[in-house]
Amino acid sequence: MKVLVVGGGVIGLSTAWALVRQGHDPVVFEQGPLPQTGGASYDQHRLIRLPYADQTGYCAMVVDALKAWDRLWDDLGERHYAEIGSLALSTAEGDWADLSRLTLDRLGLGYETLDARQIEERCPFMTVPQDAWGLVNQRGGLLFAARIVEALVRYLQHRGVSLRSESRIVSVDPGAGCLTLEDGSRETAEAIVVTAGAWTAKLFPELARKAVPHRQVIAYLEPPESQAEAWARAPAMVHLLNDVDIYAAPPVDGTELKFGAGEHRRPGDPDKLDPLGENEAAEVAAAFRPLLRDFDDYKILRGQVCPYAISPDDRFVTERNGGVTVIGGCSGHMFKFGALMGEELAKTATGERAYADFRSWAEGRRESLTED
Ligand SMILES: Cc1cc2nc3c(=O)[nH]c(=O)nc-3n(C[C@H](O)[C@H](O)[C@H](O)COP(=O)(O)OP(=O)(O)OC[C@H]3O[C@@H](n4cnc5c(N)ncnc54)[C@H](O)[C@@H]3O)c2cc1C
Repeated sequence: MKVLVVGGGVIGLSTAWALVRQGHDPVVFEQGPLPQTGGASYDQHRLIRLPYADQTGYCAMVVDALKAWDRLWDDLGERHYAEIGSLALSTAEGDWADLSRLTLDRLGLGYETLDARQIEERCPFMTVPQDAWGLVNQRGGLLFAARIVEALVRYLQHRGVSLRSESRIVSVDPGAGCLTLEDGSRETAEAIVVTAGAWTAKLFPELARKAVPHRQVIAYLEPPESQAEAWARAPAMVHLLNDVDIYAAPPVDGTELKFGAGEHRRPGDPDKLDPLGENEAAEVAAAFRPLLRDFDDYKILRGQVCPYAISPDDRFVTERNGGVTVIGGCSGHMFKFGALMGEELAKTATGERAYADFRSWAEGRRESLTED
């Protein structure tokens, strides 16, 4: 079946990969170049981690996501993943890490807990509150995002998939199963999948409140020389402070140390994002000051502005109208589901999976692991 895919980020490219695998004929439309470096998917790394607070459905999906990435690595003949595990900190009963622990228990997924002293032994660059404890998962770690996007583009080119870069879609007509491009030309197919990231509401204004475009800033740093080796052995770090959602990607496999702070974002039109402000990278990094020894010896290399769409309840937003399936509002957490989401979107678009079933799955409403 011919399937038109709007958007060449990780979700659109993974959908095309899965469609090819399932014997279909995708055509990808990307408004910019391919690979597109200006979307949410192009960065050195994205975290994949099992802890998900009380969002049982997404925690269960991570187990399936890891298997889907393995299928992608097999097809690509390249693996762009470092299984360095994850660490989250808890300082109060019922906080993010504590809820994650309960969810992992409920799903029967293993983890380790560390007290403050053990955390500092494992991560000697840290200084943690003495009443804190750490939730450690061996599974999960870092996906090398830009390398994955680049490899997907190469794979699809090699498979002869039509990749239409510099092809902006200006409207989608679900009734006619038709896309209109900026030059007025039209493309029709029985099935259309829209994966437009922060631009989703430009095509579907009715989704403007569900998939709100935002501007996020991240900071790349060089750790002090005395701590470089410890950082290179560190797990991926999520939810390190209760009141501030901060995360870190350690410098592994030729990548650099990256800090992010969930609160350092604001709504913004993805076509007109403000450039990086002079102090913004330093402001992101400053959120880590209470947790790092020798914080002033870290060197800020640069900041980066990224567009993404936030959904108010942190669940992925999906809509179906005629043969058009839309996925958006991927917030700060859809990269990890890239290969899996591509597979599920491909099945849903081609009628192999019921849309209602896909929707509740994508909204993270499942309560158990998939049985093998
Ligand atoms: C700073 C930051 C940190 C993050 N950290 C993590 C993390 O640690 N773990 C995790 O799992 N996720 C994380 N995420 C989220 C994750 O990166 C996104 O959810 C994911 O990349 C979204 O992929 P996408 O393909 O939907 O969107 P995008 O990569 O943005 O792709 C959408 C594409 O559609 C194209 N497009 C849009 N409109 C049109 C149109 N009309 N016509 C043609 N093309 C169009 C765009 O140009 C773009 O290339 C993070 C996001 C950010 C910004």
